[in-house]
Amino acid sequence: MNESAVPYGRKTQRAPAVKEVHIVWITAGLGCDGDSVSITAATQPSIEDVILGAIPGLPRVHLHNPVLAYENGDEFMNFLYQAAEDRLGPFVLVVEGSIPNEAIKEEGYWAALGVNKQTGQPITTCEWIDRLAPKAVAVVAIGTCATYGGIHAMEGNPTGCMGLLDYLGWDWKTKAGLPIVCVPGCPVQPDNFMETVLYLLCQVAGLSPMIPLDEAHRPTWLFGKTVHEGCDRAGYYEEGDFAHEYGSPKCLVKLGCWGPVVQCNVPKRGWMAGIGGCPNVGGICIGCTMPGFPDKFMPFMDAPPGSKLSSTAVGMYGRIIRALRHYTQDSANHEPKWRHTGRELTTGYHPTTYNHH
Ligand code: SF4
Ligand code: SF4
Ligand code: SF4
Repeated sequence: MNESAVPYGRKTQRAPAVKEVHIVWITAGLGCDGDSVSITAATQPSIEDVILGAIPGLPRVHLHNPVLAYENGDEFMNFLYQAAEDRLGPFVLVVEGSIPNEAIKEEGYWAALGVNKQTGQPITTCEWIDRLAPKAVAVVAIGTCATYGGIHAMEGNPTGCMGLLDYLGWDWKTKAGLPIVCVPGCPVQPDNFMETVLYLLCQVAGLSPMIPLDEAHRPTWLFGKTVHEGCDRAGYYEEGDFAHEYGSPKCLVKLGCWGPVVQCNVPKRGWMAGIGGCPNVGGICIGCTMPGFPDKFMPFMDAPPGSKLSSTAVGMYGRIIRALRHYTQDSANHEPKWRHTGRELTTGYHPTTYNHH
């Protein structure tokens, strides 16, 4: 175990190597600010817990998010200028929204934040990323727009927009040697993001080892299982019992649920404080955490390819299982017969079966 990775709560816990960390958050990609709004619902940990220092061992955290900030105008922009000039202190860069391709427009710009005081021209989102990413200790893409392009990058869009991995490069690393960390979802599940930020803050402070990521740069412990594996309706799937209209409690695969192949913990974790979770509450999984979203999952309301085959196979198997289960269930709904033998005692001590010798 890395000596610096001392778990919380031990007397031997080391003081963080870094005492203050800033979170510099750009929402100026092509997006809807839905991820900034989503994280206000986090509880594990909450954004307030992190900022107000409620978590032992964490460095002091300063959040600069344009949707949540008290500052506005130049007062807010100053944090970004300082970060770009390496004067703010160590910071984690969070990028929200899809990154447009400024090289393919004919005039104007696709997305920008603030104005260049020398030229009077808008500072494009791409320019901000170019300025800030090399100075950040960790870079996180929040939401599917920023991770893989998302809704805005769907086929036919005029902006040529993309996720941060495609913009900076999949092998790109921060000056501290961290790969880009992706927390997809449209929007992001709030606790998934806050837990990832917490991990990274610990890592920046020298308190935890390298964050484990999968091949799509998602934290492995959050995206290692499929929706299907955590779905409340999986029992119906296994028994080949499918919903054919909304409002049914049964498996939604025939209505377009992609749960069997999508990596997402939302059915297990819920949306807010454990409540909700797409298929659990009647919504088909449309694969919003996946790099192929949305194009590879459209049209959303059609049954996914393979669902026919798997539901046929499951259907045959399910019929047998259902019959056997019905038999077992019927038996389990009746008390054991030795409890109904009138006055005769057939369990434990019995004078006719107990040998006194
Ligand atoms: Fe909005 Fe979804 Fe994009 Fe987040 S990923 S900015 S919620 S469209
Ligand atoms: Fe799997 Fe979707 Fe059916 Fe749930 S509703 S069991 S995730 S196919
Ligand atoms: Fe997105 Fe599916 Fe997860 Fe819902 S269950 S958040 S639709 S990937």
